[in-house]
Amino acid sequence: MHFTDCIFLTAYKEHLLHCGIAGQFVKYRHVNEDWACGGCPIPDLLEDHFCIYLRPQRHLNRSGSSTEWFCSLTGARLFTPESCRTCPAYIGVKLGQAMAWRAREEARA
Ligand code: SF4
Ligand code: SF4
Repeated sequence: MHFTDCIFLTAYKEHLLHCGIAGQFVKYRHVNEDWACGGCPIPDLLEDHFCIYLRPQRHLNRSGSSTEWFCSLTGARLFTPESCRTCPAYIGVKLGQAMAWRAREEARA
């Protein structure tokens, strides 16, 4: 998914966009840059099935942004969302015109 389709990216006033995950504003002229939306891993995650308990957090900083992954079910910080692949509590959801719920085995197919 291209970041322009990111559900967390919203327009705010004339020259500003807002990232709902970071809770921060981004100027239009910066949005393509790697530290902003251009290098954000979250849109790729949203493109496929992901667990409903997965809670990404992002902090935008021009000298180096960061993305962290948390599990709202356990409260644990995940090293990567890849660790969800083996989690027995996984409940996959995929965004789209119609929300589609899948069991873990179906989501892998
Ligand atoms: S920084 Fe990432 S999560 Fe935030 S609006 Fe941009 S693409 Fe979406
Ligand atoms: S798959 Fe498991 S670890 Fe990952 S977000 Fe879901 S419940 Fe948490």
